[in-house]
Amino acid sequence: MKTESQAHRLNVIFLPYLSSGHLNPMVDTARLFARYGASVTVITTPANALTFQNAIDSDFNCGYHIRTKLVPFPAAQLGLPDGAENLKDGTSPEMVGKIFYGVSMLQGPFELLFQDLQPDCLVTDQLYPWTVESAAKLGIPRLCFYSASQFASCATHFIIKHKPHERLVSATQRFSIPGLPHNIEMTTLQLEEWLRTEDEIADLMNEANESESRSYGTLCNSFHELEGDYHHLYQSTKGVKCWTVGPVSAWANKGNEEKVKRGHKEELAQDSEWLQWLNYKQNESVLYVSFGSLTRLSHAQIVEIAHGLENSGYSFIWVARKKDENDNGHIFLQEFEEKMRKNKKGFIIWNWAPQLMILDHPAIGGIVTHCGWNSILESVSAGLPMITWPMFAEQFYNEKLLVDVLKIGVPVGAKENKFWTSLGEDAVVGREEIAKAVVQLMGKEESKEIRRRARELGGASKKSTEEGGSSYNNLMQLLDELNSLKASKATEKTNFKIEMKG
Ligand code: UDP
Repeated sequence: MKTESQAHRLNVIFLPYLSSGHLNPMVDTARLFARYGASVTVITTPANALTFQNAIDSDFNCGYHIRTKLVPFPAAQLGLPDGAENLKDGTSPEMVGKIFYGVSMLQGPFELLFQDLQPDCLVTDQLYPWTVESAAKLGIPRLCFYSASQFASCATHFIIKHKPHERLVSATQRFSIPGLPHNIEMTTLQLEEWLRTEDEIADLMNEANESESRSYGTLCNSFHELEGDYHHLYQSTKGVKCWTVGPVSAWANKGNEEKVKRGHKEELAQDSEWLQWLNYKQNESVLYVSFGSLTRLSHAQIVEIAHGLENSGYSFIWVARKKDENDNGHIFLQEFEEKMRKNKKGFIIWNWAPQLMILDHPAIGGIVTHCGWNSILESVSAGLPMITWPMFAEQFYNEKLLVDVLKIGVPVGAKENKFWTSLGEDAVVGREEIAKAVVQLMGKEESKEIRRRARELGGASKKSTEEGGSSYNNLMQLLDELNSLKASKATEKTNFKIEMKG
């Protein structure tokens, strides 16, 4: 039985996709909805819940109406190890495939929960296109959560529409993307793999795009001052209503405790070794190197990165992950780690780093990023310039936004868009190119302008989520709209009952 105040409260379900780049920003957004008055339920699987439950519990204890509902993941059924419930847990192409398939098996249990919880609104990841029908059955709005840049979305839209890459003589020939306000040049090799090969991901992406236009609107983790032109273009070309409410990571996670725990199962100590190491470094003197939650590098690439970083002469913190269970490459890295420890030049964090906390440390002066949208927003929030090293999905567009539009990035020279599961040992960026980009970014004179612009954007990002800022206003306006919708539905129901009685 709901109390009267619960019945009046906007009841929202958040359903994030099971990958850190999707889960992290959706959980942050769910927490913001609760902070500003909604009653929120985040639906996920047990191992994924462990990566954010602390934050939910602490919000709940502060009096916010937020909770998690769990659906078991069919790991055993698929022959996956216990706890492998997130795409980042896949250490082989086969495992990644099984986790991907496992997610699709959850539609039934997710829908049952929707019916039980009777929400006023569904906020679901763009990769769950079927939720448009679920929302229609419940007679409620579905908001599509889009965890990439609007720049990338516009670029993909115009490439699908005009197919400029189909008129070229080679996959390495450059072409301009039609329809964009800036001249953005790409090669076919840099386009998303699903645009070049008609596979099952292409089917999912096409369904996701189509379902977006049938949704009530789209929620984007971005902010007006970052890509406002593309926000307008996105709405006018795609014909969808869109609210930019980011950067949600900086908005939702203010304290060190929240930052250090975000997105990871195991407790990471706030005062760990990396922090002590960073505390001895001068301001803005260390480069943070991370390729996000999904990418696993080949041994050949790891060797080039190690030499490139060492040869640049700058200090660095590098988040390194094993490629797979049988990967012996980490022996090379362990020796490299030992050497860097002795000369105090580098620090390796194995597998997972408390990224939000590291980026905010005054010793960090820049980042090498694979151009995942969350890592970009988190770096922008910290006012940091970037070395751009896109790997897969929409990351090559993000690189163009950073380098050609915002001018806060130095490209390392990545050429081919491929997920690690299909990447050959040959697609390697060499140590000379890496060292050159590092010197260009970390050298104070070389990167003066880039640094100034990054700092400026960092300031704009903070303002956007403060009271009266663009993202703050967008979120308040959206919540008002959803509350009015709920109220008008309640009035309709009451009138209907009165008419029936009369
Ligand atoms: N992340 C982290 N520590 C790591 C690796 C990733 O905290 O060692 C977080 C990062 O802060 C971001 C997310 O995981 O919120 C990765 O998302 P992104 O869009 O950058 O890249 P993806 O992992 O989806 O490729």
